[in-house]
Amino acid sequence: MQFKQVIGQSAIKQRLIASVRDNHVSHAQLFLGPAGSGKLPLALAYAQYILCPNRTENDSCGVCPTCQKMQKLVHPDLHFVVPTAATKKIKSNPESDLFMEEWREYVVQNQGYVDTSSWYSFLDVENKQGYMSVRDAASLLRKLNMKSYEGEYKIAIIWMAEKMRVDTANKLLKLLEEPPEKTVFLLIAEDGEELLATIKSRTALVKIPAIDVNEVENALVERLDCDARQAHDAAVISEGNWLNACHFVQESEDRKFFFTTFQQWMRLCFRAAYSELIDFSANIKTLGREKQKELLDYGLRIVRNALLFNNNLAEIVMLPEDEKVFNSKFAPFINPLNLAEIAELFDEAIRHIERNGNAQLIFTDMSFKMIGLLKKK
Ligand SMILES: [Zn+2]
Repeated sequence: MQFKQVIGQSAIKQRLIASVRDNHVSHAQLFLGPAGSGKLPLALAYAQYILCPNRTENDSCGVCPTCQKMQKLVHPDLHFVVPTAATKKIKSNPESDLFMEEWREYVVQNQGYVDTSSWYSFLDVENKQGYMSVRDAASLLRKLNMKSYEGEYKIAIIWMAEKMRVDTANKLLKLLEEPPEKTVFLLIAEDGEELLATIKSRTALVKIPAIDVNEVENALVERLDCDARQAHDAAVISEGNWLNACHFVQESEDRKFFFTTFQQWMRLCFRAAYSELIDFSANIKTLGREKQKELLDYGLRIVRNALLFNNNLAEIVMLPEDEKVFNSKFAPFINPLNLAEIAELFDEAIRHIERNGNAQLIFTDMSFKMIGLLKKK
C-alpha cells in the first residue's frame, strides 16, 4: 500500500515518513488505536516506504518491483503473524503460515481495512476465537534469522497483537529484546489493556487516533461513490471508524432496496396485476433466503406502522422521510378487518421461507391473497 491509499491520518503519516528520512526507524513499534482507524493500512504503507528503493519525500513509488510485491503482500521480507483458529481446512494446530494465501486475499480485497470478526468469518471459523500460538512466534523467529532476500530490512507485522497467548508473547519478547539485525517489528493492537506490559515497554508507541470525520466523508464520496448527504450521515455515525462508515452505507443501501421493492410489490397488488406479480415473485426467488426474509420483515414493519399512523401516532414512527411518506399513504388500506390476516400472511411466509419453501410459490400465493385483503374495508 502507499500512504496516499490510507484515509486521513496525515499527522501519523508525516511522523512515519520523517522516521525513515531521519534514519530513526525504531525496531519495534506498537500501532495502537481503535477499530477502523487504518492501523494495518498505515503499517503496510510504512513497510512499503521503508523497502521501496525509489521512495520520494512523501510516498513509496508504487511501481518498482519491490512496491509491486508489497502491494500483493508477497514480498519475501514481509512477514505476518495474525490470529487464526481451526477451520474445515486446517482442523488442528492452526498458525499464520497455514493461512497466508487467505490472509493476502482478504487484506487486498479490503484495502487493508479489516477487523477480527470479518477475518474470522472470511476463514469460516464459526464461533471459535482466534489466537496466535507459540508456533507462530517460533516460525517468525526462524524466518527473521535468515538473511533478508531483497531489501535491507525484514519487516514483521503482528496484527492484533493482543491475541497472542502468554507463551507466544514471551517468545516474541525475547525476539524484541535481541532482535535480528535490520528487522522492524510493527505490532498492531486495539486493546492495550490486553497486551503484556513487558511487550508494551519493549515497543515504541504510535498512537493512532480515529480518522477525522471529514476525511471519512470525503473518502465515502471518492471510494464508494456516495452522494453528499449519505456520505455526511455515514461519516458522522461512523465516529471516525471507516469500517462502521462502510457498514452504515451498506445498511442504508439494503434498506433503500427493501423500501423500493416493497413499494413496487404493493403497487402491483393494488393494481391486481396478476402476471406482473408472477414475474415479481420469480425475481424475488433469485434474492436468496436471507434477503427474502428481510423483505418480509420490512413489509411486516410497514403494516404494523400503519396502526400507528391510523391512531395519530405518526411522530413515533422512525423511518427516513421518503419511507414515512409511503407508509402514511399505505396506512389507510390497513384496518381492523384485514390487519390480523395480513400480519399472519407475512408471518406464515417467513416461516415457509425459513423451512426452505419455494420462494416463487410463496410470494405468488401471498401476492394474490394480498390483492383481496387490501380491498377489505
Ligand atoms: Zn517502489
